[in-house]
Amino acid sequence: MVRMTVLASGSKGNSTIVASSTTRILVDAGLSCREILRRMKAAGEDPADLDAMLITHEHQDHVQGLAVTARRLGIPVYLTEPTHRAWVRWLTPRKRITYAEWLEQRRKQGAELRAQGTENGAVPVADADPPVTSRVNADYTAEPDPEEKAAAEESLAEPEKDPAALPAVEYFQSGNLFRIGDIGVTPFTIPHDAVDPVGFVFEVEGARLGVATDLGYIPSNLHAHLRRCDVLMLESNHDLEMLRDGPYPWAVKQRVMSRVGHLSNDAAAEFLARSYDGHAAWVVLAHLSESNNLPELARISAERALRDKMNLLANKLVLAEQSRPMEPIVLE
Ligand SMILES: [Zn+2]
Ligand SMILES: [Zn+2]
Repeated sequence: MVRMTVLASGSKGNSTIVASSTTRILVDAGLSCREILRRMKAAGEDPADLDAMLITHEHQDHVQGLAVTARRLGIPVYLTEPTHRAWVRWLTPRKRITYAEWLEQRRKQGAELRAQGTENGAVPVADADPPVTSRVNADYTAEPDPEEKAAAEESLAEPEKDPAALPAVEYFQSGNLFRIGDIGVTPFTIPHDAVDPVGFVFEVEGARLGVATDLGYIPSNLHAHLRRCDVLMLESNHDLEMLRDGPYPWAVKQRVMSRVGHLSNDAAAEFLARSYDGHAAWVVLAHLSESNNLPELARISAERALRDKMNLLANKLVLAEQSRPMEPIVLE
């Protein structure tokens, strides 16, 4: 039995379980460990059954609970070497400081980078959804998860306890198939402003599951990866008009719309209408922006694109949510 369960999807955190009868993989850990475990239980998944964690890229909304979850469950983390290095750099404070000082330092670094970004017409930090300003405030200064805070303080108090310590790290390279248990994993490079971002195709008991979120556009070499998928999880991040008229600073809007930003409803629909082979039983729209999109807009534009391809057996359309786990998709 093949199962995909999206625990969360969107700019505030991403995490999905891909499972065969014998192997279970957590794809990204963009919620706190506590929330990941809570949602797994709510979705009927036993955290003790997880075999590995797989990371797409180092943005906060994909790695927030990485270290704590991997250590708590004692599972290996699979990622590319550049992504691992970027994550370690991001996580490791330069000297021993209190947690509050570290937060303040990160806030200042964010402000400096934003100032530079505005000069260059680019925003170099973070998933710009929500904007960097509110992201920094929301994620770092408002009520940190007590568990994450305790873990950070613990590691700061004892320098030998490295906050980036993981039970085991396995590197993969884009384009090279590897196996975790009986699941085949093919990572592919996606255009996004992280150091080495990837999407995945999973081969599970003869089924193909494609995951492509956090991408500025769909390059033609991705078309082959996303062919013959039985489940296709595709980003439908923003409505262009809502983004243009919305609350983000102009530099952030440019970044989201850029070739290394996020996929709009229109771009997702264009792919579904023109380049997608119509093979999937399920199409999952994912990573919807809460500020610059509405679920109904994303749904309508994808439905229009899939109009001739939808039936009881093919192209059932579902939307992944930020605030709660999606009903598991099961292929028998
Ligand atoms: Zn990202
Ligand atoms: Zn993201």
